[in-house]
Amino acid sequence: MDYLQLANVYNRLESKASKLEKTDIVAQFLEDVDKDELEAVVLLLSGRVYPGWQSQELGLSSSLMIKGIAKAYGIDASKIEDKWRELGDLGLVAEKYSSQKKQSRLFSKSLTVMHVFDSLRRIAEIEGMKSQDKKIDLVCELLGSVSDPVEARYLTRTIIGDLRVGVAEGLLRDSIAYAFFTNVYWKETLLQKVDGGTRLSLVCESVKGRKILVDTELDAFLLKKYDKEYSVLKSENDLIVRDIDGDVEVSKSLCDYVLFYDSVLGKEVKSKIVSAVEHAFSMINDFAAVAMAAREGGLLGLSKLGLTASHPIKVMLYQKAPTIEDAFKIVGKPAAVEYKYDGFRLQVHKIDGDVKLFTRRLEDVTLQFPDVRYSVNKSVKAESFILDCEVIGVDKETGKWLPFQKISRRIKRKHKIEEIIKEIPVIVNFFDVMMVAGKNLIDAPFEERRKMIESIVSESEMVKVAKHIVTSDVRAVDKFYKESLSKGNEGIMMKSLSAPYKPGNRVGYGIKIKPTMDNLDLVVVGADYGEGKRVGWFSSFHLACYDSDSGKFLTIGKMGTGIKEKTEEGMSFEALTDMLKPHIVKEKGKSVVLKPTLLVEVAFEEIQKSSKYSSGFALRFPRLVRLREDRMAEDASTVDEISMLYTGQRGRDT
Ligand code: AMP
Repeated sequence: MDYLQLANVYNRLESKASKLEKTDIVAQFLEDVDKDELEAVVLLLSGRVYPGWQSQELGLSSSLMIKGIAKAYGIDASKIEDKWRELGDLGLVAEKYSSQKKQSRLFSKSLTVMHVFDSLRRIAEIEGMKSQDKKIDLVCELLGSVSDPVEARYLTRTIIGDLRVGVAEGLLRDSIAYAFFTNVYWKETLLQKVDGGTRLSLVCESVKGRKILVDTELDAFLLKKYDKEYSVLKSENDLIVRDIDGDVEVSKSLCDYVLFYDSVLGKEVKSKIVSAVEHAFSMINDFAAVAMAAREGGLLGLSKLGLTASHPIKVMLYQKAPTIEDAFKIVGKPAAVEYKYDGFRLQVHKIDGDVKLFTRRLEDVTLQFPDVRYSVNKSVKAESFILDCEVIGVDKETGKWLPFQKISRRIKRKHKIEEIIKEIPVIVNFFDVMMVAGKNLIDAPFEERRKMIESIVSESEMVKVAKHIVTSDVRAVDKFYKESLSKGNEGIMMKSLSAPYKPGNRVGYGIKIKPTMDNLDLVVVGADYGEGKRVGWFSSFHLACYDSDSGKFLTIGKMGTGIKEKTEEGMSFEALTDMLKPHIVKEKGKSVVLKPTLLVEVAFEEIQKSSKYSSGFALRFPRLVRLREDRMAEDASTVDEISMLYTGQRGRDT
C-alpha cells in the first residue's frame, strides 16, 4: 500500500471532529488493508511504530527534526525554525517545503507504508556513535521520497510523536470492532436513519450483494415498509431470515449485517463485540495483534489472546474517595484494606526462570534492580507469574521507610548500580497477581488473587505481601489508616473482595484514601518563556487533566510557584526547562506547546469554573508539589474527578 493512501486517511480524520465519523473512516479503511500490512497500518494510525507493551518510542525531538527537514530540502535550519514559529506545526512546515520541491520528484517511485514503517523503526532503534546524524539521514531519505506534500506533513508529525489526528485508544477499539465484525443495526436506529432521510438507503445500497442476517420480526417490518428495497435484496438471495438471539455469530465471513427487531438485543450484541476487543487489548496491550486476531479468528480468535509473561500489561488504576464511608459504598462490605505504600509501582514477570521488571509506564527496569530480581526469585515459588507490587526505599540508618522522591533515583540510575543498592535498599510489597503458572487470574475475584499471593510468596526481609486486613467496620479501618500513616505511608487502599483485575482502567475496584486528597496529578502541555532573571527558561507551565472518553488533555491553569530559582534548592526552572524542551511541538511567540509527557503533582487553593480553559475549570494558586516521572500522561487526574472535587467544594461551601 502506498503511504499516500494512509496520509489521505489522516487528512480526512483531521478534518472531522466527530468521534463517530472518525470511527467510520478508520473502520472502512481497516477492512481493506492486506494481512501483511495490518500491523504497520494499525500502529501508524495511532502514531506509533511499536505496540504499547514495548517501551521503545519514536519521538525524535523537534530540534533534530528541524535539522532533518533542513537537510531534505536544502534550506537553512533557522529558516525552518522561523516558519515553524509562523505556522506552529512542523508537519505543515515540511509539507510547505515539500510542495516547493515537487517538480524534481515527478518520476520517483512512490513511498509505501511498509517502507515508512521499517524506516521509522530504524530511526527509533539507532544508537551509539553518530546516531543523530544517521537518524537525520533516514528522515531526509523519507522526506525526499514523498510523492505528495501531504505525506511530508504526516511523516514529520509521526516522527516527532505528535500526529494530531485524534485516533485515541477508544476510537481504535471501536474501529476494529466495526471493521472486522458484522455491523449490527436494530429497528429504532434504522427508523431514525430513515426519518433522517439518508441512512436506510445507505444500508440498502451497501447490502446489495452482501449477506444479511435478519431477525424474523424485523423482516416483516422491513417487508411492509420498504417493499422496494427488500425485493431487490431478496432477489439477490442475500437475506438469512431467522430468530436471532444474543449469541448470534458475528463473524463477517458468515454475514455482513445483522438487523435486529429488538434494540436491547442489538445493543447487547454490539457491546459484546466491543468488550471482546477491549478485553483482548487489555491482555496484550497491542492493537495490531488484536486487529489481526479479530480479522483472522473473530470472537474466538480474540478470546485466545492471553497474558504473556515478559510483555507488560497496563496496570489497574484506582479511584479516590474522601472518606472511609464513601469508600465502603463503592467497594462493598466487607472490604480488603491495605497500606498505601509511598513508592513506585513495579510489575514483576517471571518466565523460564527469568525475572523481568517493568514500571507503571511499562519501561523495562530489570537492569536497575538486580537486588529485586534476586530476592523475588528466591521468595516467590512459581515457575512463571505476573505480580503487581509497590517498591519502597528504606533508610539504611534508621530502617524507616523513605518517601517516593528518595527512591525515584533508583529507577533512573543505569550505572554503578551496586553502589546505589547499598545506599538505598528497597522492600517489595506484593498487592496483586495477574498470572501464575500460565493461569490467567485477571478475571478471578481479588479475594482469590490475594490468597494466591499468600500461597506463592514466602516473605523475607526484602519481599513482603502488602499489609492487609478484611473488615466491614469503619472504626477498624480508621485505626488501620492511622497506623499506616504513622509508618510513613501515603494512606490506605480499600479494595472490593469480588472484583477482577482491570488493566489500564481507573475503576472503583480499589479506592485510595490519603490526607493530601485534593492534590491533582496534571500534565504539562505547554509553557511560557520567562523574562528578566528567568530569561531562556520556562517560567510558567500550562497544566492539563485527562478526558478518558475522548483521550484528550484539557487545560486547567498555569503554574509558576513551587519551583526553585536554583537547582540546589530542589526542582528548578532551569531543570524543568531542560526536561521539557525536547518535547516542544509548536512555538508561538513566548509560548510553546509541549507533547504531554511530564506528570506533576499539584496543590491548589480552590477549583473554580472557567471558560478560559478547555476543561471548564481553573485552579486558584496551583503549586508544584513533586514530579511524577514514574507515571504516564494518561495517569493524570481526570476531568470527571475534578468535577467531583469541585462539587464537593460547593457542598462544603453551602
Ligand atoms: P495513585 O497513584 O495516587 O493513583 O494511587 C495508586 C497507586 O498507589 C498505585 O498505582 C500503586 O503504585 C500505589 N500503591 C501503594 N500501595 C498499594 C496497594 N496496597 N495497592 C494498590 N496500589 C498501591
